[in-house]
Amino acid sequence: MHTPESCHFIDASLTTLLKTQIYMRLLLVEDNIPLADALARALRQSGYVVDIARTGKEADDWLGSQQYELIILDLGLPDGDGANVLRRCRARKQKTPVLVLSAREAVDERVRLLNLGADDYLVKSGAIEELEARVRALIRRSQGITEPEINLGKLRLDLNGQRAFVGTVALDLNAREWSALAYLAARCGRIVPKEQLMDALYGWNEPNSVNAVEKVISRLRSKLMEAGVTVRSIRGLGYSVEVIDGS
Ligand code: CA
Repeated sequence: MHTPESCHFIDASLTTLLKTQIYMRLLLVEDNIPLADALARALRQSGYVVDIARTGKEADDWLGSQQYELIILDLGLPDGDGANVLRRCRARKQKTPVLVLSAREAVDERVRLLNLGADDYLVKSGAIEELEARVRALIRRSQGITEPEINLGKLRLDLNGQRAFVGTVALDLNAREWSALAYLAARCGRIVPKEQLMDALYGWNEPNSVNAVEKVISRLRSKLMEAGVTVRSIRGLGYSVEVIDGS
């Protein structure tokens, strides 16, 4: 097994990347329940952890207790204009990127929101693929990231495409396995406690357990057989991604 020195290529920008693109927790502020559920489902399938706020008050509560990489903000909320959430967020000096999602198409409305500190604006009729592309771009831009890739042994992680490769062969990972691998790879050589990994993989309203995390890791290990990389369990402490000697 290699020591952490084998992970020297993880430089400061990658560490920043990790804190963001890998630990991708988003706050979705949307009171339309079917729409919120559909968006959250699509974003979770892409590996994001999504918390949902149904009102401006709930959004403020989440933002006071949790760090987010991005806020997706509906404007028409039961307790007022979603723009107030944005206004309060900027008044608290929170720089979290905000993507406004609205049914309103008027240009002066866009200008008003951008002036309030919104980072992007998407009309609700847009495709989910466009929303996801903008989410990725906003998160990257907020961190000044240009080369979203991690190389570990024979393993290459394409953080943009959210896929892992051994040579040219893509590993068949589900969203949860991908997120676990990316989170651990970004912390290569360091021990990640199981509870920390659990927090990174599951939203507050999703059923989770240490047992579920263990199952994800177990499947991941068997899929990494050819990668020259393994996920080591350190009893009582957590997990560590390591490059196997000779890889
Ligand atoms: Ca609404």
